[in-house]
Amino acid sequence: MKAVLFDLDNTLYAPQCDLFSLIDVRINRYMEDVVAIEPNAVDGLRRRYWKDYGTTLQGLIRHHVVDPEDYLDYVHAVDVGSRISVDHDLKATLNNLPLSSYVFTNGSRCHVDRVVTALGLDGLFVDVFDIRIAAYQPKPNPDPYQQVLNELALSGTQCIMVDDQPQNLEMAKQFGMKTVLVGAALSDGQQYSYVDAQLDRTADIGKLLDEWLEVA
Ligand SMILES: [Mg+2]
Repeated sequence: MKAVLFDLDNTLYAPQCDLFSLIDVRINRYMEDVVAIEPNAVDGLRRRYWKDYGTTLQGLIRHHVVDPEDYLDYVHAVDVGSRISVDHDLKATLNNLPLSSYVFTNGSRCHVDRVVTALGLDGLFVDVFDIRIAAYQPKPNPDPYQQVLNELALSGTQCIMVDDQPQNLEMAKQFGMKTVLVGAALSDGQQYSYVDAQLDRTADIGKLLDEWLEVA
């Protein structure tokens, strides 16, 4: 094992912080004000683009000739500090992790930087892989996973992926990664064969990694 790939949103901070609701408002505003989509068509289009492409952005690129960089700047211009504060437990955990930590997100690097700083985690990630890594193709599309592995010069079996979205871990498992689901996605008693472990919060990953590395 060489690397731990952490998702950002709702993985490095709890969904209860509700940061995404701020971004959500910005996405709607972008579609109405910048792309000039009728307000009553926005929700339906977002649902369709999510279903068909995994992100609203991919739909806007394909059907509305949107500049992805302009979109990313606009939708991530939110007051991160109003929702997120320093996480001392997570900081201590990452500080003591025996593997290199990376962020692997469908968001943008500037958003990552703001969130990481607000959490007090500056300097704890070796690198950030954002939505740009595979031409704005999001997880769970295989392309960004392959690109991350290429850049790290690692095989999937050398990586652990931590994410709050089961479908992102399903693809990680196809690449041979160990997978950790964070949060409540399993609380209904469902089980996923591609989830190796489940944690309530990412700060608890230290003990799990110690166990895995011991038996490896
Ligand atoms: Mg997430």
